[in-house]
Amino acid sequence: MTFEKLTLHPSILKAISESGYTVPTPIQAQAIPQALEGHDLMASAQTGTGKTAAFVLPSLHRLGTPSTKNSRGPRVLVLTPTRELANQVTAAAIKYGKHMRFRIGSVVGGMPYPPQMRLLSQPLDILVATPGRLLDHMERGRIDYSRLEVLVLDEADRMLDMGFIHAVEEIAAATPATRQTLLFSATLEGNIAKLASRLLKNPKRIQI
Ligand code: AMP
Repeated sequence: MTFEKLTLHPSILKAISESGYTVPTPIQAQAIPQALEGHDLMASAQTGTGKTAAFVLPSLHRLGTPSTKNSRGPRVLVLTPTRELANQVTAAAIKYGKHMRFRIGSVVGGMPYPPQMRLLSQPLDILVATPGRLLDHMERGRIDYSRLEVLVLDEADRMLDMGFIHAVEEIAAATPATRQTLLFSATLEGNIAKLASRLLKNPKRIQI
């Protein structure tokens, strides 16, 4: 398997090869084709497996096609349990998307509000967020989900462990039902399976 076989946008392939990656990791080889076909995914993958690129690359690929909507809200929303993980996801999207034009920003807990309010008042393509802070902004009417195409739940098990279940469900409920949902978690059992059954539509299950 090579990245070229994954039919990603040429500018994404260029950034990948500049990153020095030659072959997709197992999670990437399984998740990327399914995500590009538009399927919902529930994937079990630990940190270090290349899971970030598994959802960032197909999300960037979508941004290669202009939105049909003329609103300004995010087209891709990534929820992460922590600020550190949000920063890692943002850095990965900037790295793999360096030959594309898109706007990315993050709203995370523990950081001041005014810069986040400014960010959310401007057009955005990718928003990376922790659930509590995002819900806060939503309740103040600062998020427009009318363009949202992809919702990613990264480390969903940790988000549940940290008590974000209510926030995650509220956020998902506010997004268009037509969205694609990609869930990544160390485990796919128990409460994660229940959450998945509520938020995902006919998901492809990927276990590595
Ligand atoms: P992650 O599991 O997403 O945290 O990624 C773990 C590390 O693997 C990161 O430092 C990535 O830069 C790196 N990585 C991701 N995909 C590949 C790949 N296909 N080939 C080599 N390294 C990769």
